[in-house]
Amino acid sequence: MKRFSPTLNDLSGRRFGHLVVIGRSEKRGNRGARTVPLWECICDCGNITYKATDALTNSDISMCNECAGKYASQKMRENAGFVEGTQISKLKYNSNLSTNSSGVRGVYYDRRSGKWRARLRFKGKLMDFGSYFSIDDAIKARKKAEESFFMEFLEIHKTK
Ligand SMILES: [Zn+2]
Repeated sequence: MKRFSPTLNDLSGRRFGHLVVIGRSEKRGNRGARTVPLWECICDCGNITYKATDALTNSDISMCNECAGKYASQKMRENAGFVEGTQISKLKYNSNLSTNSSGVRGVYYDRRSGKWRARLRFKGKLMDFGSYFSIDDAIKARKKAEESFFMEFLEIHKTK
């Protein structure tokens, strides 16, 4: 049997992860001091991307740069989500965890003051983000709090 030699093979039509090779391109990529030819590939998302043979054959999951970026940040979120027992995915995306008077998680009507309050539970602590006459303002405050805590949380764990 002939040994697989990726540099000599024509990869046209072959699939690598999310990429299917369309054919050879004029483009070349850098490998230290020399350059290597790049294959024109189409990603499952529809993007056209150019990859060298080694990038296609050595990568676990080949995809375009845009998908790779999304994939990396998704992984980062997943990893961050289980740090210190705070599941970020729930914090940010699951609005059905608790139902309350406003229908929006963390925003509820305070009968005593007659105002809408915005709250956020983060790392087991319940924080108050003020009370508002308008439900929209309370929702806005809650959303803003969510975003800033979410970003801060990612920042903290990104640097570790
Ligand atoms: Zn893609």
